[in-house]
Amino acid sequence: MGFPKGPRTKEHQANLTAAIRKQRQDPEFIKRMSVASKITWNDPEYRERQSNVHKGINKGEKHPLFGKHHSEAARKKMSDSAKGQPAWNKGKTGIYSEETIQKMRNIKIGKKQSHETIQKRAEKQKGREVSEETRKKIGDVHRGKFLSIETRAKISASKMGKYGGENSPTWNPNLTDEQRHETRCYPEYKDWYSGIFERDNYACQLCGDDTGGNLNAHHYEAYKSNQEKRLSEENGITLCRQCHWKFHRQYGFGKNTREQFNEFMRAA
Ligand SMILES: [Zn+2]
Repeated sequence: MGFPKGPRTKEHQANLTAAIRKQRQDPEFIKRMSVASKITWNDPEYRERQSNVHKGINKGEKHPLFGKHHSEAARKKMSDSAKGQPAWNKGKTGIYSEETIQKMRNIKIGKKQSHETIQKRAEKQKGREVSEETRKKIGDVHRGKFLSIETRAKISASKMGKYGGENSPTWNPNLTDEQRHETRCYPEYKDWYSGIFERDNYACQLCGDDTGGNLNAHHYEAYKSNQEKRLSEENGITLCRQCHWKFHRQYGFGKNTREQFNEFMRAA
């Protein structure tokens, strides 16, 4: 089957789609494809080669979809066809290298990603088009329209002890205590957090923002570098996300001190 030059006509596109559809239903074709995909995807060399090709040719600006977006209709189609289908990598092994698996695992257990990685992702998100509807949804969540942070704190307090720690449905038995402290996933930490909010009347102590869901509890002396003060009430202050980020953008992460914060306040 030859490809006519120039843009495809509607008719040609329809014929093509019909042909592909028919071919996909051919048992012989299905068998061939599944064998082929096993051979290719289980072959690390193939993957290495493929990934090099993509790195060199298809990455970033060279990607055919760079700067483009799938149309609303195309997106719906993709999403519809994916519904109810098992994930493409389900049950398959040998797809990812040991290194990649380790990376994914680290993300899952909440291990910190490098600043560079986070920055890169943020960069990618910039300039991304978000529909009005999505924007509204995000806004609602952030404004705590459904549950204010106060309500959530109350709920969490009422559940404390009941569902906390090992009784929590999200308790991950595979984490070591060290990992739990690293990822801040333990009930005492949550208590500290809501305690700081309560003391500060659920408002940013710099700009006064009291939007539910937009608040963070900041450690004067960094959580990471100051183990003894991790849960000290003296060591925390409520900040809105914007002020919090402004501070950390300026002073980095992990080794922060109260002096830095004082300096930050004086400059504000
Ligand atoms: Zn603020």
